[in-house]
Amino acid sequence: MVPRADPARAREAAAAIVRTLRDHGHTAYFAGGCVRDELLGLEPTDYDIATDATPDRLKSLFPRSGEVGASFGVVLVKQRGIAIEVATFRSDGPYTDRRRPDVVHFSTPALDAARRDFTINALFLDPLAPPSPQAPDARGLVIDFVGGLNDMKSRILRAVGNPAQRLAEDHLRALRGARFAARLGLTIDPLTASAIRDHAAELGGVSRERIGEEVKRMLTHPTRARALELLRELNLEGPVLDDGAKPTSPPTTLAGLSGDTEYATALAAWALDRDQTWTVAASWRRSLCLSNEDCQAMEAVLKAVALIEDGWLGLPVAARKRSAAAPAFAQALRLVQARQPATAASVHKEVERLSQTGLAPDPLVTGEHLIAMGLKPGPIFRRVLDGVYDAQLEGRVADQESAQRLAAALAEQG
Ligand code: ATP
Ligand code: MG
Repeated sequence: MVPRADPARAREAAAAIVRTLRDHGHTAYFAGGCVRDELLGLEPTDYDIATDATPDRLKSLFPRSGEVGASFGVVLVKQRGIAIEVATFRSDGPYTDRRRPDVVHFSTPALDAARRDFTINALFLDPLAPPSPQAPDARGLVIDFVGGLNDMKSRILRAVGNPAQRLAEDHLRALRGARFAARLGLTIDPLTASAIRDHAAELGGVSRERIGEEVKRMLTHPTRARALELLRELNLEGPVLDDGAKPTSPPTTLAGLSGDTEYATALAAWALDRDQTWTVAASWRRSLCLSNEDCQAMEAVLKAVALIEDGWLGLPVAARKRSAAAPAFAQALRLVQARQPATAASVHKEVERLSQTGLAPDPLVTGEHLIAMGLKPGPIFRRVLDGVYDAQLEGRVADQESAQRLAAALAEQG
C-alpha cells in the first residue's frame, strides 16, 4: 500500500512513468483498480502500472526506486515525490497454499489480465493514447482482454476465467468480491456467486488479519448494509465471524446507520442484528483481528444499548447523567433509534432535559479540597467524591459551601 497523494498529481506522476518507459521502447499501462475507478467516475486511491520492463530494467531506468515485495518483483518508483507501484506483466503459477502462487512468471499483458480476480479489475489503460469508441469517456485507451468493459457497463462482477477455479485458488477473493459488489453497486454473476458459495466455508483458511481488513473496509463504507446482505447471501457471514451464532433477524440496525458511522458502532449494530450481546466482543476481536480500541468501543456501545433498552429511563438522575455523558451513549442511541424508535425518542428527550443542568459538570469538590479539609487519601476518598458528585448531579448541592459540608458529613460516616 502506497501513501495517499493528491489524485491529480498522482495521475500525472503515473503518466510520466508510462511515458519514460514508452520512450525506452517498453509497453506500459495503468492497471487494475485505478482503471476501474476512473471508468466509474471515482477517484482512484492509487495508480498501479504494469509493464514489460523487468524489475532490474525498472531499477536502472528509475534510480530512485526500491523493491516492494522482493519475491514478487514489484518496484516502487518515486516520481515527483509520489511513490507508484510498477509491476512486470506476470502470470501466476499453481496455488498450492491457496493464498499466493508458488511462482510468478513474467509474461504478456493478456496473461497478466488473466491472473487478476474480477473482469472489472483486469483492465489496462494507455494514458497516452486517445480513447476508443468502446469507451469514449475514458482518459486514454482501454485495453480489455477479459470482457471487463462490457461487465462494467452492465454493472456485473464476474471472476476472470473459470469462477470455480479462481475462487478455489484464493479464498480472499470471495470477500473482495462482496466488497466490490456492495461498494460499486454491482450484481454478482450467477456462476461467480455460486463459486463463492461453494468455497465459503474454506474462508477460515485465510488469515484473520486479511479477513478483518476486508470487513473493516466493508463496514466503514456507506454501503455497509448491502455488504452484510451479500455476506449472508453468499454464506460468508458465519465463516467471517466464526462465533457460532445463527442470525434470525434481518440486518435492520446496520441498515439504519448513516453514512459516516464509526467502525466500532457498525460492529455493534451487526452484533445486535445477530442477536448478540456485548459478550461477543472477545470472540470478534479474535476472528476480525480487532484493535483493543475498536473491541472496547464495540463492547461499550453494546453495554450502553442494553442499559438504554433495559430501563435507563427509570434510573436515578445521577446514574442517568453519568451514563449519558459517556461517548458510547450517543453511539448506542443511534442503534436504539433503528431498533426501538419510540424508546430512542423518549431517551433523547430526557438527555436534552438533563443536559440543561449539565451532564458532566466540573466537580464542586475534588481530592485537593478533601486534603485541605484534613482528610488522608485512601479508599474513603473515592466514596466521598462519588457521593458529593452524585448529589451535585441531582441538584442536592449547588455551591462550594454546601458541597464541602456534605463531604465532611460523608467522611464522618466513613
Ligand atoms: P482497492 O485498492 O480499492 O481495494 P484494487 O482493485 O486496486 O481495489 P488492490 O488490492 O489494490 O485492489 O489490487 C490491485 C489489483 O491487483 C486488483 O485490481 C486486481 O487486478 C489484482 N488483485 C488484487 N488482489 C487480488 C487477488 N487476491 N487475486 C487476483 N488478483 C488480485
Ligand atoms: Mg488498489
